[in-house]
Parts: sequence; C-alpha cells; structure tokens
Amino acid sequence: MAEPRPRLLVLAPLRVEAMALFPPVPDPAVSAVVRRLGMGLAKARQSSQRLAPEVKRASAIAIAGLGGGIAPDLEPGDVVVADRLVDSEGNEVARLASAPLLSAELCRAGIRARTGTVASSDHIVTGQERKRLGDLGAVAVDMESTVAVATVAPEGRACAVVRAISDTAEAELFSPAGLVGVCKALRSLHASRPALARWAAAAGKREVFLAEPRSFCAGVERAIVTVERAIERYGAPVYVRRQIVHNAHVVSDLEAAGAIFVEELEEVPDGARVVFSAHGVGTAVHEEAGRRGMFAIDATCPLVSKVHTEARRFAAAGRQVLLVGHEGHDEVEGTLGTVPGTVLVSTPADVHTLDLDRTAPTAVVTQTTLATDEVRGVIDALESSFSDIARPSASDICYASQNRQEAVRALAPSCDLVLVVGSANSSNSNRLAEVARRCGTEAHLVEDRSEIQLSWLAGKRRVGLTAGASAPEKLVSEIVECLSGLGPTEVTSRAGANEHVNFPLPPEVR
Ligand code: SF4
Repeated sequence: MAEPRPRLLVLAPLRVEAMALFPPVPDPAVSAVVRRLGMGLAKARQSSQRLAPEVKRASAIAIAGLGGGIAPDLEPGDVVVADRLVDSEGNEVARLASAPLLSAELCRAGIRARTGTVASSDHIVTGQERKRLGDLGAVAVDMESTVAVATVAPEGRACAVVRAISDTAEAELFSPAGLVGVCKALRSLHASRPALARWAAAAGKREVFLAEPRSFCAGVERAIVTVERAIERYGAPVYVRRQIVHNAHVVSDLEAAGAIFVEELEEVPDGARVVFSAHGVGTAVHEEAGRRGMFAIDATCPLVSKVHTEARRFAAAGRQVLLVGHEGHDEVEGTLGTVPGTVLVSTPADVHTLDLDRTAPTAVVTQTTLATDEVRGVIDALESSFSDIARPSASDICYASQNRQEAVRALAPSCDLVLVVGSANSSNSNRLAEVARRCGTEAHLVEDRSEIQLSWLAGKRRVGLTAGASAPEKLVSEIVECLSGLGPTEVTSRAGANEHVNFPLPPEVR
C-alpha cells in the first residue's frame, strides 16, 4: 500500500510571516498548510492547543517566522534553525535533532543559514538584553517557539524551528535599518519554503542499520596517534607530508593541534620534523628528507609497507612489477616511487594496452584499499594475458577494506539507501559506496551530516550507514542523531567481522 503524502504544518506568528510562507510548499510530494500562532508566548500556547487536530494529522511541524539576532556574526536575512530551545532564563526546553540537515539544505539553496540555540522571550528583546541572552548561549531570540514546540511536538514527531533574522544589535527593530532587516528576513522566509518541503518529505518512521566494522582501522589510528604524539613530544609545529589519512575532519583537528600539512617536502624547512602519511612514500622522498637533515617519522601503514616489500622482492627476483591501483592516489604514488619501473594497471581494459613482453617473468601487487570484486577482474585479465605472473601469497587488499566491504555487501540489499561517511578523496570510502551500488542500492558518500541531501531520504525507510577506514565514528553518531530528529528511528547494528588488529607506533613516538 502506498504511503500517505507527508503533511507539513507550518506555524507562523503573524499574518505577515504566514504570508511570506504562503503558498506553503511548491512540492507536489508534500501536502502543507500554514496556520497562525499569534504573537507572544501566551497566544502561541492558546493557538497550539486550538490547533491540536491539525497537529495530530501532521507528519512534520515547522514553527517559522522572524527572529532577533544575538550572535554578532548574524545579519538581517540570515536564517537560524534551532537545534536547541531555551526559555528567557536559559533553561533548556527542547532539542531539535534534525536541525543540521535542514540548515545544510537551506545553505545549498543559497540562504545564509546556521544552527544554534534560540531563546523565547515574552517581549521584544533589544539592547543589553540581547547580550544577557547571548551569555546564556542563545544565538537568536523569538517570542513563541518554546511554548509552541512544548505543546505541538509529541515524542518522535519531526519538528523544526526556523527563524529569519530581522533585527540585530546594529539594526534594532524600530529603526530604519530594522525595517530593511524585516524585508530581508521575510524574503529569506519565502525562499526557505522548498527546503522546508524537502525536510517534511524526508520526515517519518525509519530503521537505521549500522554496518560493522566501520570507521577507523588500525593503520589510521596509528597514523593519527603518531602525529599527536609527535606534537606532544617534540612541540608544534610538526610538518606532515600530504593528508595523514584522507579525511578532512581528521586533518583540521590535527591542524588545530599544531600540525602543518604540506604537499611536498620543498615546503618544509631543512632540519624540521616531518611525518610521512599512512599512504607511504617513495624512496626519493626518504632520500630528500635525509639529505636536508629532517627528522622524519614514517607513519606509513604497515600493510602498505608490506606491499612495498613485496614489490621490491619481486623486482629483485628479476620480475617486471605491475601495480593494480588508481592513478594519482597517494598510496599508488608511494608504491610506484618505491620500485622504479613499476607499471600501473587500473582496469581490465588497461591490460590489453600494456606494451610489455607477455612471456617475461612478471609480478602483480595491488593498492590496499581497492574493492575485492573490482580487483578480481583486473587480476583475471592479467593472468590470462601473462604466462609467468607471480602474486603475493595473500591478497594485498587490507583486512580493514575487506571487512568494511563485506559488511556493506551484507547490509545493502535490505536497505533503500546507504550512506557512507568519508572524504571524496578517500579510496576505501569510495569503494564502499560502489559496493553498495553494485548491490543495486542507492548510495552516497558524504563528508559529514551537512552533505546529506534531504531528497535522498524521502520515502527511504531503511537506511544503511557505514564509514570508511579514515572517517571518525563521531560523524556516524551525528548522522544517527539527525535522522532520529526526522521521526521515530530504530537503530540496529549489523555485526560483521571482529577486528583485533593493532600496529606498534613508529619508534620515534613510542
Ligand atoms: S585502510 Fe588498510 S592499508 Fe589503509 S591504513 Fe587502514 S589498515 Fe592500513
């Protein structure tokens, strides 16, 4: 049976705000109505109670209108999506978990939006009182949301508070600048309607399946701790050649702690401390660091070092070495730079274009983070094309990549959507999304919750969630929390392989 159309109830304080939000949503997938709350806490309470039958029918409720800016970086026309509501004394009244998803959707629509704490006051706030509310943690103030949310938002129902900033400390409400601010805020409210519609369409009951294992592997943990310990032991700055692991959050956290990330050693002063990333480096990089008196700490994952050792061993035995991997990836560059003359092969089609003697002794190694099913096709093509080809005794694809892919393979067929947390340049994270798609399931790679598009979630009742080996687990928890703000959410872990791998730290930071 088809699901009923999601029903959005928009509650706006004054007629002028209701008109800005009308027609409610230009989206045929959502039915919506706009109702007036009236101005002030008392009227909002009465109206919310009066609207109880409409509230009962709604699948998502948005309280939307103008608000006063408190945070100094807010300007008239900006939009605040409340992730927390407090009363005028700073007492918490509610948390609204889906706020980051709606805020990000508004930003994608070209609106300057942010999340934050909204305080509700029983009068218009100006002057010193803005500062007092700011000291309580509020970024914006309104006169209705706390009581409206407390009255209309039953447990588990999607609820949002959207406030377009009309006035700030520099542009008080009853001033010429304040009037301009009101016009800008009404325009922003009007422009918010499509995003509100998508938010309402995404609301509803949902199951979330967490793939296990997911997130950090032993090599990533080791690399991050190596940089942290180097800063702790030797003091900032510590230079890091390339991203220590391919994750923007990890990199910015380490930058804040005192790491300086560079692309090449030419950006590092002679004699400085430098860490080589988990992806490994070629011989020339080691030599340059030595020649220029650098104190180098090698955070190359031991499983990548193992591939380097295999490639050297095959080359020493007189074999032409082939590397299966993706051109331009840091790990591939490191392996190619370790054994000069190694030839890169990326696809089965590449095999047929190789200008090599197919009867000569040859060997193949692979990038550690490829998809197992993807590599199989390339290796099969090589084995049928070369008469004397050697391979390492065990697959080069690391345990972490294999386990995370297996977990997605097990979970994806029973999901409507798979979300993979990881950076766009993370090989293993990209492979996880590809594995899910090969299972026939829509899948998206997201840096964090801010990249989740609400349209992906519309009608998706079973969502699988995983994270690449370089993505922090806290990003997964944040997404689960946001999804739970869209409606009743059941979260289940899908247990896969147990991982008990630990690698010793480099001697310089042990
Ligand atoms: S994904 Fe594999 S190769 Fe890469 S750091 Fe983790 S364990 Fe090492």
